[in-house]
Amino acid sequence: MIRVEKLQKTYGTGTRARPVLHGIDLNIARGTIRAVVGPSGAVKGTLARCVNLLERPTSGRVWVAGTDVTDLPERELRHARRAIGTVFQSANLLRRRTAAENVAVPLRYLGVTARDEKRRVAELLERVGLTDRADSYPAQLSSGQRQRVGIARALARRPRVLLSDEATSGLDPDATRSVLALLRELRTDRGLAILLITHEMEVVREAADTAILLRDGRVAESGPVDQLVADPRSALGNALLPDRPFAQERPGLGTWRVTYQGHEVPTDWLTRLGADHGLDVHVLSATVEEIAGRVAGRATIAIDEDRADELTLALDGWGIHAEPLPPGGPLVPEEPSVPSDPVREAVAETAV
Ligand code: ADP
Repeated sequence: MIRVEKLQKTYGTGTRARPVLHGIDLNIARGTIRAVVGPSGAVKGTLARCVNLLERPTSGRVWVAGTDVTDLPERELRHARRAIGTVFQSANLLRRRTAAENVAVPLRYLGVTARDEKRRVAELLERVGLTDRADSYPAQLSSGQRQRVGIARALARRPRVLLSDEATSGLDPDATRSVLALLRELRTDRGLAILLITHEMEVVREAADTAILLRDGRVAESGPVDQLVADPRSALGNALLPDRPFAQERPGLGTWRVTYQGHEVPTDWLTRLGADHGLDVHVLSATVEEIAGRVAGRATIAIDEDRADELTLALDGWGIHAEPLPPGGPLVPEEPSVPSDPVREAVAETAV
């Protein structure tokens, strides 16, 4: 639905030339949500503007719904842009127009008749669950509702691709959840290809099928979210389901990091290690969540060093990845370092 190949972007020319995107490849299929995630300065904004054709790439190609739009003349580009609906961080609604009038704006440009306009606006507002707020002005709506009006407006041109540029930044958790639930429905019901530009891992966790980590204008990592989470070496997977801090190693016990995802993994694996294999397992930290519709877990456990083979054999059989943590490895100290206390130090010195 969207394909980006070897996309490069340089701002300025000559001695002021500043390359910011360095050969990005990106593919978003119909009916999928792909997140592009990265800190500010990762050049997500420029990528978004190249994808929705507000910015011309310096080199590389962009296809939208099967059309190569890279070199289209301005007039045709405007037409091609209709295939992409964009939702921005702040919905940018017209303050003096009602929700219904805001949604109607793009329809006016399409030359839709007044009767059709009314029908389509009603359909769109129903789609985003705001039928009863049609006559409300933006100031009378919550931030989440405003964002849903923005989505209805973006859908007015019947786009095949939706670009969400930090659309949930600044929303409270409930509003974020409702906007993401709506995006997921649109992906499934309308088969939209959705590009989700975000700096929030929570958003990726909750909505994305696949994700790309962008760093300094380069793709640092990319893959299906469930696979990233299951990969103990993935920085993005780690950010999506962070290892929890855990207590110090126990003498005589080996410490293991355990990573898994998918419904095939028995959720009672920990109990079974004891019951079926007679292993005495110490749980040092654990976190289990549903990510991309699948169970994903990370745990740090300790067992008798002599029984490592039995542990890996049992876990392997369930499709659970386990790796030993080296002594003094990536351990988080049990006690966070306490800032120095000048009074106590002074007392201690006097005592000496
Ligand atoms: P992000 O969205 O990840 O914060 P942007 O893509 O907005 O990053 O910007 C990436 C870099 O490109 C920034 O250093 C910014 O200053 C620069 N930049 C963005 N837009 C322009 C522009 N129109 N002209 C020149 N430099 C720009």
